[in-house]
Amino acid sequence: MPTKHAIAGLITRLHDPQYARWASQIRRTGGCRQPIHLRGKVEHYDRSTGRLLHRYSTHLEPDGLLRVPCKTRRASRCPSCAETYRADTYHLVRAGLVGGKGVPETVASHPCLFVTLTAPSFGEVHSRREKDGKVLPCHPRCDAETCSHGRVMSCTARHGADEACLGEPLCPECYDYTGSVLFNATAPELWRRFTLALRRHLAKLAGLTQKDLATQLVVSFAKVAEYQRRGVVHLHAVIRLDGPDGPTSPPPEWATVDMLTDAVQHAATVVTAKVPAYDGQPSRVLRWGTQLDTRPITLHGELTDQAVAGYIAKYATKAAECVGTLDRRIQPLENLAALPIREHARRLIAECLRLGAFDELADLRLTHWAHMLGFRGHFSTKSRRYSTTLGALRATRAEHRRDEQISTGRLPLFDEDDEDSVLVIAHWAYAGQGLSAGDAILAAAITGTPLIGPGDPHDA
Ligand SMILES: [Zn+2]
Ligand SMILES: [Zn+2]
Ligand SMILES: [Zn+2]
Repeated sequence: MPTKHAIAGLITRLHDPQYARWASQIRRTGGCRQPIHLRGKVEHYDRSTGRLLHRYSTHLEPDGLLRVPCKTRRASRCPSCAETYRADTYHLVRAGLVGGKGVPETVASHPCLFVTLTAPSFGEVHSRREKDGKVLPCHPRCDAETCSHGRVMSCTARHGADEACLGEPLCPECYDYTGSVLFNATAPELWRRFTLALRRHLAKLAGLTQKDLATQLVVSFAKVAEYQRRGVVHLHAVIRLDGPDGPTSPPPEWATVDMLTDAVQHAATVVTAKVPAYDGQPSRVLRWGTQLDTRPITLHGELTDQAVAGYIAKYATKAAECVGTLDRRIQPLENLAALPIREHARRLIAECLRLGAFDELADLRLTHWAHMLGFRGHFSTKSRRYSTTLGALRATRAEHRRDEQISTGRLPLFDEDDEDSVLVIAHWAYAGQGLSAGDAILAAAITGTPLIGPGDPHDA
C-alpha cells in the first residue's frame, strides 16, 4: 500500500504545470529506478565569432533538474538499466562468436571454447544433483564419520531446488571459511596468471617463442564471474584464437580447437597464487578446482553462440546478492547479527572482516569487499580485441537519443561537419539520485515497469 505521504507527492506531481515535461524526462530514463539528478547547462558557441548559438539549462526543467539513467549493471538496484546492460553484454559476446557490430562473420571459424574455471572444495555442503530426471540424495555415506563437533558427515535428503540449506556446510565449524574468502580474493590474480600460462603453453605446443607467438596469434576472451550457492566464484569464459590483428585476421593453420583445449587444461592445472603468512598462520597456496569444463561453441550443436551469449549476459547483471547476502558495502563496526542474511553468508562476511584486519593481507582489501564475500574483481571483462565495446554500443544509442533531443528542441541541429567550428561548454553538477515515493509510483506507471518500492539512493 502506498503511504499517505506517497499519495500526496503523487498528486502534487500530477498537478504540476510541468508534469508533461517531467513525464518525458522519466520516459527517457527508460524506467530507471534510481535516476541521477543533474543541474547545469550546455552552451554552443560559434568558434570564429564567439557568438552564442544555443543554450540549454536545467533551470527551466521540472525541479530545476535533468534526470538521467543510473546505468548500473546490478539487477537488484535497477532492473531497467541492468536490462540495458544485459542486452549490450549479450550483443558484445555474440558478436565475438558469429560476427556483427563491426566484427567480420569469418570470426565464427576461429577455434573457440566455453571454459568454466571452478573453485576447489572448502568442505562438504548440501547440494542437489539430478540424474536421468531424478533427484539424488544429497551426501549419502553409510560409514559416515562424525566430526569433532559431533555432526555426522552424511545427508540422505533429496533437496528441493529452492531449499534454503543448499550450499550450506554439513558442519559450519569444520567448513574452511578462511579458504573460501581467500579464494574469492585471489580469483582475479588466478585468472591473470591463467591467461599468461595459456599463452606460454600455446607457444610451447606450437614450438615458438612467446615473442614469435604474438606475431602470429592473439588470444581473445570475454568472461563473467558467477557466485555458487556456497559463496565462491566460478569464472565462465569464451576463449578464442585470432590472427595477429584480432578478430579480422584468421589464426594460423596450426592453431586448432584441440590445441586450445590442451593449453586451457594445462594452464588451469598449473597456476597458483600465494597468500602471505599472517597471525601465526602459514602462507597458503590457492589454485582452481579440479572440475574444469571446456566445451567447443558451435552454431548448431549442443552449446550454441546464443546460449553462451545469454549465459554470460545473465550473470553479468548479478552479484553476490544471489547467495542471500547484501548488495552494499559493510562497515567494519556494523552489527552483523542484525543483517537480514543467511547464517552462511554472515560467517563469510565475518571472516572477510576478521582477515581484513591483518596488515599482511591488506592488499586483498577484504574489509572493503566483505559484501562480495572477498571477490573484488570485475564481474564481466573482455580482452581489448574480443569484439565491440560496451562504449561503442552506448554511443550508438546516444546518437539515437541525440536525434531525439534535436527534434524536441534540446540541442541545436548542426551538420556533422560543423563540429569543428562549434565550441561546446558544459557545466554539470550532481544534485542527488532516486525518486520520491510518489514519483516512483508515477514513473512505474509511465514506463510500464514494476514498482519495487521507492528508489532508495545508493552509493555507487
Ligand atoms: Zn537505473
Ligand atoms: Zn543435504
Ligand atoms: Zn565439524
